[in-house]
Amino acid sequence: MIYFDNASTTPLCEPVVKEIQKYTESFHANPSNTYAPGLSEFYKIRSAGLKILSLLNLDPHKYSIYFTSGATEANNWVLRWANKNRYKILTTGIEHPSVYNTAMDIKQRHPFGVDIVSAKPSIFSESDGLISFYNMVEKMKIKSILYPKKLVSLMAVNNQLGTYQPISGIGRQCKKYGCLFHVDATQALGHIEVDMVRDCIDFLTGSAHKFGGMKGTGFLICKKNIELTPMITGGKQNGGKRAGTENILGITTTPIALADALENLEKKQNKIYRMRDYILDELPAGSFELNGSLFHIVPNILNLSFKEISGQELATFLEAYNIYVATNSACESDVEKSNRVLKAFGYDDSTVRGSVRISLSNNNTMEECQEFVKAVKEILAIKRRDE
Ligand code: PMP
Repeated sequence: MIYFDNASTTPLCEPVVKEIQKYTESFHANPSNTYAPGLSEFYKIRSAGLKILSLLNLDPHKYSIYFTSGATEANNWVLRWANKNRYKILTTGIEHPSVYNTAMDIKQRHPFGVDIVSAKPSIFSESDGLISFYNMVEKMKIKSILYPKKLVSLMAVNNQLGTYQPISGIGRQCKKYGCLFHVDATQALGHIEVDMVRDCIDFLTGSAHKFGGMKGTGFLICKKNIELTPMITGGKQNGGKRAGTENILGITTTPIALADALENLEKKQNKIYRMRDYILDELPAGSFELNGSLFHIVPNILNLSFKEISGQELATFLEAYNIYVATNSACESDVEKSNRVLKAFGYDDSTVRGSVRISLSNNNTMEECQEFVKAVKEILAIKRRDE
């Protein structure tokens, strides 16, 4: 199998596989128990949190980390907390459904509580995969009696195009205009540098299965001076903020996966760049267009629109070669042919229809890229012959 859908989920990295095997060999007490075996599990969870903060160069006196069932839950937590505390939410149409649909749900009940800021620079132009900095800052400036406080929610890396959004600039503007800043860093963590301090980020969300960890584990990192209310009420787990017996294995393997992903990151990125460039250079020129600009896409994600074949058709043909790519975000793949994100960027219908996402990882090889290019060429030839 050639797996080119690593933005959807990554295989478990080796150190995590080893840790899972080790875990199954011993008993694990409930971390809430106060006797020694329970306390030992509690400290494992605590040190997992501290390890993640340290990997992200964050001071544990200034930032808290809460483990969740994934980035979806963490994003829900931030947005619903903001709404409950009368922050106006400024977000965009390019966000992952865990932000966008949550924002829309809040908007239904509080029409003035959410503003979906246009990602396009103007109604006449398509964007190059970046949100409009100008539109967002203009919205930050607007004063409202109903919602005097604001929260800006913007993803670091767009999961469909791989474009790195202007996080540093927006963070600085948030600070200037007194807005809280939430960054969904799910597609960035473990792939590119993320700096919460430099970029004035108040809330950061992530998910372990995007960087070699387990599915069903994510986290929210939050500045300590913010009075976050619980996501789930109940026991005292997660500092009373997210009750329920913890997913010890998911949590303890998360820093292992992140450390593994960050180790020799530059070397891994260079390998991925070489594979990406090979694909771009070797696919027949003129048969496709790159969505988003190469100047600001992460190494591992490519979004291409083919002219002669729809994205869905190409993906289905590729399956026959045992090659897997995506035509949409996994969370929205049932939304046939209508790609909200590409449309929010202003791409036309034919680009949207033709779009496929190829997402690579360090586990992929140049030979796989060669097979991919060969398969696409054959599929395009078949398509031409049949028409
Ligand atoms: N945000 C982004 C940008 C994502 O790509 C994803 C996963 N597709 C999520 C949030 C949701 O993460 P999880 O699967 O952990 O709920």
